[in-house]
Amino acid sequence: MQWDKDAEQAMTKVPFFVRKRVKKRVETAAQQAGATQVTMGHVTLCQQRYLHNQEDEVKGFTLEACFAQSGCPNRIDTGDNLTERLEALLRAHNLKGFMKSRVSGPLKMHHEFRVTMADCPNACSRPQIVDIGLINVSLPTLTEFPCSGCGACHAVCREEAITLEPGSGPQFGWQRCLSCGQCARACPTGTIGQGITGYRILLGGKLGRHPQLGQELSGIFSAATTLAIIETCLIHFKAENRQGERFGELLTRTGFAFLAPYALKAA
Ligand code: SF4
Ligand code: SF4
Ligand code: SF4
Repeated sequence: MQWDKDAEQAMTKVPFFVRKRVKKRVETAAQQAGATQVTMGHVTLCQQRYLHNQEDEVKGFTLEACFAQSGCPNRIDTGDNLTERLEALLRAHNLKGFMKSRVSGPLKMHHEFRVTMADCPNACSRPQIVDIGLINVSLPTLTEFPCSGCGACHAVCREEAITLEPGSGPQFGWQRCLSCGQCARACPTGTIGQGITGYRILLGGKLGRHPQLGQELSGIFSAATTLAIIETCLIHFKAENRQGERFGELLTRTGFAFLAPYALKAA
């Protein structure tokens, strides 16, 4: 749907973490009014609704993704439909009802449990500053196909994680490698293939008065294990939460011992 200039300008003042959702609400309001273009009138109407009925707008959780679906060439496709499965899991936990039982007074947007997914280590959707952040990764691996020495992998690696010696194949500096998958894509001979593909998991990031970056669990996890870990996190969050505190605060207090069944620790 088209937006007029003033309406578009007004949206730039909406905090980034709710902008996508607010934009959708405004477009729905415009559609319901039979308009073909969004104007300031529709923005103001939604602003009023938001200010006076903020609790109605709270869903209990937000699940956001980067812009990979719009055709980003850096996207690592894990092909496991995790977003839908994750949304179902978050819904099943009735986080709005739970927060309502912990918070005195009406719920606000900052009470929502935030989960963000990024389809490559560029992390455009900022998984470091939400309750649970996921990053798709793809570890490169050497195959049996011989290297032609073309240098494409070395040229594409922004981390300088690949060295090429004349006459031998590529050597990986694993400490530097971010598992972005670019070298496997660039290799014309298939000498570098895609190894383990999965998710990095960051827990407990937040902004606000006491900002902190999420702590990363060591490892790359399959979709099934990622879901199991997130479910364990939600159970822990609900069992230990004091007065609607954010997951990051709670983790600072409780530590990561609750993840012991997965033999996990913060990296
Ligand atoms: S995180 Fe990666 S895949 Fe997603 S939009 Fe950014 S660059 Fe593209
Ligand atoms: S996966 Fe990315 S960071 Fe790792 S070696 Fe390949 S290009 Fe470099
Ligand atoms: S891109 Fe492939 S073929 Fe070219 S140097 Fe690297 S490993 Fe060898």
